[in-house]
Amino acid sequence: MSAVHICEVGPRDGLQNARHLMPTAAKKAWIRALADAGLKEIEVGSFVPPKLIPAMADTAEIVAFARTIPGLKVVALAPNLKGFQRALEAGAHKVTFPVSASRQHSESNVRMTPEQMVEEVRKCAAVPHPGVEIEGAVSTAFGCTMQGVVPEDDVVRIAAALAEFCDGVALADTVGYANPAQVRRVFRRVRERIGGKLEGAHFHNTRGLGLANALAAYEEGVRSFDSSLGGLGGCPFAPGASGNVITEDLVFMFESMGVATGIDLAKLFAARALMTQAIPDEPVYGHMALAGLPKGFRAAA
Ligand SMILES: [Zn+2]
Repeated sequence: MSAVHICEVGPRDGLQNARHLMPTAAKKAWIRALADAGLKEIEVGSFVPPKLIPAMADTAEIVAFARTIPGLKVVALAPNLKGFQRALEAGAHKVTFPVSASRQHSESNVRMTPEQMVEEVRKCAAVPHPGVEIEGAVSTAFGCTMQGVVPEDDVVRIAAALAEFCDGVALADTVGYANPAQVRRVFRRVRERIGGKLEGAHFHNTRGLGLANALAAYEEGVRSFDSSLGGLGGCPFAPGASGNVITEDLVFMFESMGVATGIDLAKLFAARALMTQAIPDEPVYGHMALAGLPKGFRAAA
């Protein structure tokens, strides 16, 4: 079975939605531990206004630090041209732009329609950015807390627009509304339209379907997944709910299926311990951390 690539998004998606701030020094130690565990790509922060999201105020420093880790692809999120310029200055290897497929979510979140947001990303892509990858992430691609249903046609159209100038396109279940049948259908429709430009799947475990959705996407040919250690982060729209699909559980699922992730689970648990020490009151999730590895478990070769 072919291998998968996992991007750890805990330092960005997790901490951005967490209730507790992680000190900069602890973030660095955590990112180093994640890289030690075998993660080759980490979304380390976002270039949003620090006044809006204090947890991301140190992103430039974190990007600079993460760049010193050999072999690590350092990803940052940017919501607009200003954020993109800051990401380039800081030296991010890859910048991801969220474009909401939900009109209501987009207008309330970034005060732009999805079409205006696509144009904002197009403007960014036109800025010289040698060696820096640009990813367009279609967020709320499977449903929205404001709008409810997000038409699949809207998702396909936005993904196709982004594919014109982005290096890769991802589909994100930002609020944890997706189910596996829907995941298969939407990924298939978008792939029919943009082919190999469709790369990543970003799922949240809000309603417990994170792993099922990841497996459905895998079966549709997706080989690149976002996840966060301990499912860190929660959901701003569902108090008490967990965050992203859980890295430890995702790695276990794939490895036990014989699908290599390149990630060492024991070292991943060590990284989890560092994270929970740094923000001890923040809720974390995950079955693997509670149950441990089953007897006779063998990682994929
Ligand atoms: Zn997310």
